[in-house]
Amino acid sequence: MRPKSNSISGSCLCGEVEFLFSLPIKWCANCHCTRCQRSHGAGFVTWVGINKNQFFLKKGNTLLNWVSSSKKSKYGFCSKCGSSILFKSTKWEGEIHITLANLHPPHNLKPQAHAYFDTHVEWLNFNDGLKRIDDPNK
Ligand SMILES: [Zn+2]
Ligand SMILES: [Zn+2]
Repeated sequence: MRPKSNSISGSCLCGEVEFLFSLPIKWCANCHCTRCQRSHGAGFVTWVGINKNQFFLKKGNTLLNWVSSSKKSKYGFCSKCGSSILFKSTKWEGEIHITLANLHPPHNLKPQAHAYFDTHVEWLNFNDGLKRIDDPNK
């Protein structure tokens, strides 16, 4: 059987947490919020937003752990290798967010916008023409 071309798989660094989701995605964006910066140790994090019922955890259910970043939001990470790969929030009920960098190529997903751009780091350039959206709660 041919692999399903309408789905994308991904995993954490060690490969013990593996997942699959079906297309289409809802959106893909770079998040510049300070919570993403600090939890990933990175200037920004590129997320893919999908409807949560399109998500399927293939393996690693006992290793996938969740840490709260606020009252509403949680990051999902592999407790073996520490990769932070998922996000869910009551702010985006019905969605699950997945880090683009943890998806297995080939796929043609790429960010369409910069979110929470008001807290972007000063040490990177973002002259890519993508739409810039600030924190809507400020
Ligand atoms: Zn892992
Ligand atoms: Zn963020």
